[in-house]
Amino acid sequence: MKKLLLTALFSTTAAILSPYALSAEVPFAIAIHGGAGTIEKSRFTPEQEKAYRAKLKEAVETGYRVLEGGGESLDAVTAAINVLENSPYFNAGRGAVYTYDGSHELDASIMDGRDRQAGAIAGVKHIENPINLARLVMEESVHVMLSGQGAEEFAKQQGLSLVENNLFDTEKRYKSLLKAKEKLDKAKATSKDYQAAHNALPDNYKMGTVGAVALDKNGNLAAGTSTGGMTAKRFGRIGDAPVIGAGTFADNASCAVSATGHGEYFIRYNVAADICARVQYQDKTIVQAGNEVINDVLKPIGGTGGVIIIDSKGNMSLPFNTSGMYRASKSNSQATKVAIFKDE
Ligand code: ASP
Repeated sequence: MKKLLLTALFSTTAAILSPYALSAEVPFAIAIHGGAGTIEKSRFTPEQEKAYRAKLKEAVETGYRVLEGGGESLDAVTAAINVLENSPYFNAGRGAVYTYDGSHELDASIMDGRDRQAGAIAGVKHIENPINLARLVMEESVHVMLSGQGAEEFAKQQGLSLVENNLFDTEKRYKSLLKAKEKLDKAKATSKDYQAAHNALPDNYKMGTVGAVALDKNGNLAAGTSTGGMTAKRFGRIGDAPVIGAGTFADNASCAVSATGHGEYFIRYNVAADICARVQYQDKTIVQAGNEVINDVLKPIGGTGGVIIIDSKGNMSLPFNTSGMYRASKSNSQATKVAIFKDE
């Protein structure tokens, strides 16, 4: 009996002291989004809805596995975003929207919460996985943001092969371009009219982007965002996704954020950095800070969209002010959650 008691005592102590038991207490987590907008259940067939949910699940679980295996949050973010970029369902990589001129121009950025290192690319046309190039800019260049041809020259130097722009063609996005142009061309006379007509386009023409935020077992945060931007964008328009502080932000001292929405507003209101500043300087929780910026600041002025946020304890918040946002999350204490519509 005494022996039994001793064995029980020993195994309990061992369980408490074992590094495994300790590491099991360390939080790690990931959240992803696949864009916000007028996303209503009535627009999906049951099969389509199932397929979107399955892809979101695959992306979040791909990132989660990196974290679970002790990998860095930057790797988890990159891996999750690659899954979404490689899918035609989302407006990034393979599913990128068309510019007014009928091509695809891609933007992306990534940020490391350890030291606020960041990399971004804007307006690239021949990069299969823009988030990978953003990461190379961060890790292998002395700059933060590269654009257009220069960014692609850098990509070649880094050993990335360039792809044809038509790799990103999809019938669905092409139809959206034709519809958007029909609406826009009526208002082409002056650039102000054009701008107003563009603003008046339904959300679905303006939105869609993918992103991920993660916390790894070492307590490091990271955020990344990748997008095709807005349907029928012109004149080399660049949105918020590659703008550090607007579409992407990460700092271990506060939080990590990836945004999706009407980029012009997200740039002007410095959305991702504003949320983290509220956490850092006003002691707000990520839930409070996210809701304030998305619902109190952006919504009244017409800034539609949403964000995913994570803090250094592994708390996650995914607020948006549109009818839906493709999203998913998973942590060491929370099973995979996938959602699309508002009330779920
Ligand atoms: N924010 C992106 C842009 O303005 C689009 C989106 O997220 O829906 O380019």
